Amino acid sequence: MAAPAEFDLIARIRERLAGRDDVVLGIGDDAALLAPPAGRQLVVAMDTLNADVHFPEGTAPADIGWKALAVNLSDLAAMGAEPAWCTLSLSLPNADAGFVDAFLDGFLALATTHGVALVGGDTTRGPLSICVTAHGFVLPGQALRRDGACVGDDLWVSGTLGDAAAALAQWSAGGDMDASLRARLDRPTPRVGLGAALCGIATACIDVSDGLLADLAHVCRASGVGAELDVDALPASPAFIANVAADARRALQAGCGDDYELCFSAPASRRAAVEAAAAGHVQVTRIGRIVAGGGVAARDERGEPWEPPATGYQHFG
Ligand code: ADP
Ligand code: MG
Repeated sequence: MAAPAEFDLIARIRERLAGRDDVVLGIGDDAALLAPPAGRQLVVAMDTLNADVHFPEGTAPADIGWKALAVNLSDLAAMGAEPAWCTLSLSLPNADAGFVDAFLDGFLALATTHGVALVGGDTTRGPLSICVTAHGFVLPGQALRRDGACVGDDLWVSGTLGDAAAALAQWSAGGDMDASLRARLDRPTPRVGLGAALCGIATACIDVSDGLLADLAHVCRASGVGAELDVDALPASPAFIANVAADARRALQAGCGDDYELCFSAPASRRAAVEAAAAGHVQVTRIGRIVAGGGVAARDERGEPWEPPATGYQHFG
């Protein structure tokens, strides 16, 4: 049976929510009633954030709230979907109203930006863990999938890579995190507008959550192709260049995750269309090409093979 404290927390959440016309019934019943638009496919994603695994201890609750939704919107973005609704499962060590209020500050700031309605969830006691589902829409046949990359396609990535990994490296080394690197770790920007704009242009897409090499390998496997990655072409932010020694950059940019940029393939004949789709959203950079075969081969600027020290985060590795 639910303790009264649980209902107090749910009431706190409920009182801060904005509605949407397509939410027939939101928080308060046994389940939400939603009215998806006619002629669209429903896209559903779920991601969990566990303390110490997905965010460093001591991360501000508002940042945890932002990130919990951001990683889910990033999955929708990688499908080219327009986000609409989400649900939130909160596992908390105790009924900490202050935590929930601050968590919602970050969570709802991002939800409002994208017009996403929180329509339900679950609140339980346990080790700090947050699970979110996000729901969105695509036109039938228009979703960006992992299995559509074709030999000869260009490979692209949005934004810059390595910032989050650089912040985590500073943190693991016991030092202070650079503020702008830390902002990328704590408050990743889901590339929702870019994802939607790439429908009909990109042949395959994935969001970079586990590390570019690992995520690109998923695309290759699903598409039955290989990829050549120009590791020295990976876009880097000024903060990354200022904070990371030259010999450590490739590994952080190609091997580590948490950037939540979009990596996608598109026919070489559609370069102008890709640039036009990205305009107004985020910069995009060509980082390689799709080739016959399998797996990802990374090369440096001299064309020499480059071997990464690690290929992405594995939960049970
Ligand atoms: P039940 O016991 O039927 O699962 P709950 O007490 O878990 O009901 O939830 C009551 C209502 O509050 C439901 O509409 C549920 O979706 C909503 N809810 C519970 N926890 C959350 C949460 N963390 N965020 C949003 N909605 C929540
Ligand atoms: Mg419940």
